[in-house]
Amino acid sequence: MKKNLFYAALILLTVLLIAAEFFNKTAEKSLFAFDTVVEISVRGRECKKALEECENEIKRLDDELGVNGSGILRQYNENGASDRELDFLIERALSVSRETDGAFDVTMYPVTVLWGFTKNEKHVPDDGKIREALSACGYEKLLTGGAKVDFGAAAKGYAADRLVKILEKYHVKDALISIGGTVTVWSRVADVAVRSPDGEGYAAVIECENTVLSTSGGYERYFEEDGKSYVHIIDPKSGRPAESGIVSATVVTEDGFLSDALSTAFFVMGEEDAKAYLKEHSDVQAILITGDKMVVSSGLKIKNTDEKYTIEVLD
Ligand code: ADP
Ligand code: MG
Repeated sequence: MKKNLFYAALILLTVLLIAAEFFNKTAEKSLFAFDTVVEISVRGRECKKALEECENEIKRLDDELGVNGSGILRQYNENGASDRELDFLIERALSVSRETDGAFDVTMYPVTVLWGFTKNEKHVPDDGKIREALSACGYEKLLTGGAKVDFGAAAKGYAADRLVKILEKYHVKDALISIGGTVTVWSRVADVAVRSPDGEGYAAVIECENTVLSTSGGYERYFEEDGKSYVHIIDPKSGRPAESGIVSATVVTEDGFLSDALSTAFFVMGEEDAKAYLKEHSDVQAILITGDKMVVSSGLKIKNTDEKYTIEVLD
């Protein structure tokens, strides 16, 4: 009898151990890359391996795609070298540029440098210098390799897409990843807050599920001169910091690259053109903040908004 009890206990213990092994664990990591804070939280049996590979991938992409990295983008800008990944990204960038009438343009680097955004020597340059810098830009030049490239407005979104591949590989149960203003909600539901463009707190809280949310705002990287502020997002038509009236553009869509790139494009395009784009692309949702107004795609699940905004729902 005692022997039977012993065996029963042993079987129970084995079952519990197997169940524990199957039980999904959580692994979390915070690191600095892409000039911003990256936070990764994954849940699943192989969460540690998945997390480690995500971290390595982030570091690899930061180096490969950063203008100051030591990877392929640097080589492309110096001597035209490329590889499959860069060709793919240039192709995608070209397509977003065409779809946004050039508001998104990864060849603005000479202009960004001129305004001092890259070296923290921000200042208003003179008109002649702006025209000169602009003549070296233009997304059409990507077709002939005739322009320098800066993926600052889409690399974080692309990184989000790459990390999802790793999550799939390790059968991760669910994950939450933020790379600066680009947040991936994978295989779960999460409330994501959109920061208030003029100070503390949030402008809106969105319930997200299986999607990527990116916000572009002029409130984080900007400078002031003679009482006027200048943001780090350039209007490719003028070679000057964007002044479209939009102070914060959030784009929610499954594709990370597109989410990141479009949030920058909308910031440049302004309310009317961004709305026109949204009307034609039902798979893309957005929140556009212009002064006291917030334009919200009807497909978004908004949990909360700052009372000071008048809400306009976009069908
Ligand atoms: P964040 O700085 O939060 O990543 P964005 O995603 O909007 O914000 O990217 C802004 C960066 O993209 C700039 O710092 C610059 O490197 C680059 N950039 C500036 N203007 C444009 C533009 N019109 N299209 C594409 N990239 C741009
Ligand atoms: Mg962007």
